[in-house]
Amino acid sequence: MSGIAQTVSCIDGYDPEALRVDKAGEAIRACLVPVTGTERVPVRAALGRVLAQEIVPQIDVPGHDNSAMDGWAVGSKDFSFAKEIQLLEIGKALAGKPFSGSVGAGECVRVMTGAVMPQGTDSVVVQEICRVAGGKIGIPPGQKAGQNVRAAGEDLKAGVAVLQPGQLLRAAELGLIASLGLGELSVKRRLRVAFFSTGDELASIGAPLKPGEVYDSNRYTLHGMLAGLGVEITDMGVVRDDPVLLEAAFRKAAAGADAIITTGGVSVGEADFVKQLMAKLGEVLFWKIAMRPGRPMAFGRIGNAFLFGLPGNPVAVMVTFYQFVRDALLFLGGRTDSFEIPLLNAVSAASIRKVPGRTEYQRGVVYRDGGAWKVRTTGQQGSGVLRSMSEANCFIVLEHERSAVQAGEPVQVQLFEGLL
Ligand code: AMP
Ligand code: MG
Repeated sequence: MSGIAQTVSCIDGYDPEALRVDKAGEAIRACLVPVTGTERVPVRAALGRVLAQEIVPQIDVPGHDNSAMDGWAVGSKDFSFAKEIQLLEIGKALAGKPFSGSVGAGECVRVMTGAVMPQGTDSVVVQEICRVAGGKIGIPPGQKAGQNVRAAGEDLKAGVAVLQPGQLLRAAELGLIASLGLGELSVKRRLRVAFFSTGDELASIGAPLKPGEVYDSNRYTLHGMLAGLGVEITDMGVVRDDPVLLEAAFRKAAAGADAIITTGGVSVGEADFVKQLMAKLGEVLFWKIAMRPGRPMAFGRIGNAFLFGLPGNPVAVMVTFYQFVRDALLFLGGRTDSFEIPLLNAVSAASIRKVPGRTEYQRGVVYRDGGAWKVRTTGQQGSGVLRSMSEANCFIVLEHERSAVQAGEPVQVQLFEGLL
């Protein structure tokens, strides 16, 4: 037994003929090897990329104690009183324009938000509660030492690591890196993903439909799903069920990509060459997954590329992509933070048919009904009904052991929002 088959055989409860969704995910994860290459990019270009270095601040942010409000900076030793006190304003400090003197007892300095706290002060009294009269600033009683001041280093501390390799870089991380004055950083190289559709019945856009043909839609849904993952995409078009063409396509994809996604040709009893070729060119496992839609799926390796052989049905493509391929590609791309699709609890508005023994991903519409989240299915759930994905805003996840759902029962849903 070689690499992949051996790895998956160690998984408890591994059964290629009736593989539970969680076991399939586990099996894939156990075989994957994340990319290691890195590149340096300017801060803006790092958006959506995976960090490849630790970020350790060389400076405190903010660099000085500074005022959080507009008002007057005072020394808190002046606070021990029961009624209003009168302080003498001896100067002014603005953001970027510090006060250079020192503040003594009975004195204060006018400060604006972001101004460095003048020497001798530790608190700011907001301007709205002060009384300016006769050249003096009246401060009411009840002030607290240290109030309205942002401490140096309260955001980021010099020497204390703030970001780790494997983190997704979002808007907040870009700003955070910029706040340290860093102009560029090291990110993981982009994962290269090649895909093609297989099937003799597939026509490409632009060609007239011959009898029995359908337009290839899978490459477009795949393009859309992959675009959201920040990977480098190579669309290799439609490949006929012809062994010579298929072999050439697999070899080309394996030479240039880290992952290959195909659709079609992995069904049970499929009379085409896709399965044969996958098995010939690499180490590929053929699974019957206990799920609906998306029962047949191939997973393996051809050369250095991981292969995901998805079923042909348009809805099955999307379901298997979101349940397995998305996770695998993010992991391959070097993510080490958490990116599991969260589940939300909702109340089923109607009964749903379901038999135990497989996980179902019904297309649903989750909506707010008074104080509760409710969900209904989009109706027709055939795996060729791509409209059901378009009308849906979530998957209703009906667990492996679950039987029929009654109206009013809680169910779990995966929101599409954030997935695209
Ligand atoms: P298969 O998995 O190859 O048996 O295909 C299952 C069903 O999905 C068949 O009805 C195919 O016509 C359909 N199908 C396969 N590939 C595509 C595609 N790229 N676009 C649209 N429909 C497809
Ligand atoms: Mg086919």
